[in-house]
Amino acid sequence: MQAAMNDPIERYRANYRSEILPRRYDGRANVRNNALVYAALAVASALAMGSMGRPARAAWIALAASLLVFNLFEYAYHRWVSHRRQPGLRRSYQRHAGEHHGFFDAANMTSPRMEDYHITVHPTGTIVAYFIAFNLAFAPPLLWLWGLPAAGGFALGIALSLLQLDLLHFYYHLAPSTPMCRFFDRFGYMRLLKRMHAAHHDRRLMASHGFNITHPLCDFLLGTFPKEALRDGPR
Ligand SMILES: [Zn+2]
Ligand SMILES: [Zn+2]
Repeated sequence: MQAAMNDPIERYRANYRSEILPRRYDGRANVRNNALVYAALAVASALAMGSMGRPARAAWIALAASLLVFNLFEYAYHRWVSHRRQPGLRRSYQRHAGEHHGFFDAANMTSPRMEDYHITVHPTGTIVAYFIAFNLAFAPPLLWLWGLPAAGGFALGIALSLLQLDLLHFYYHLAPSTPMCRFFDRFGYMRLLKRMHAAHHDRRLMASHGFNITHPLCDFLLGTFPKEALRDGPR
């Protein structure tokens, strides 16, 4: 125990659990509530997308466009808000660069404790807030130009993007012995994504590389993909 407390990561984690983690936090309930919200948002969006029979081509284009828009948002927010102090958004910087990166570094990427989901899994209210904000910004022009199926397609893309962001980040920090981790680890692409995020958690790289948390599209386009992630070590 004494040796563990000499480890700065273990010291940080113990402090987080006693000082920041809400006493009533329930990691299992957080995951369950998020799953219910993702299912509800995806079903409602898909119903809107198919509300006039088979979705028109505009609805599929809106779906694809929203996946790309969210990938860019994920990258930009992570790079320029979560890792750079911006006026009015200091809490985002503190929460991510300070707390999330304080809790996990490249050599300590996982925790088996369920209460530690608090540092990784989105709060359920945040998911709903992002979903509403994206749709308030994009649904009016889509409704006006191409109607409800296109707005539904866009909304479905946002729901799926939020889901994969939460799910993949959860997987990267999940204990390797869990069934979900063992299943995802079978796939080379999933292991690549996990190594990419582990490289981003290297404190020397965290402010310069690996800002996509899902598919590294913007990292490739903007030259910030961490090359260390290409080496697949023994499993
Ligand atoms: Zn992380
Ligand atoms: Zn980061």
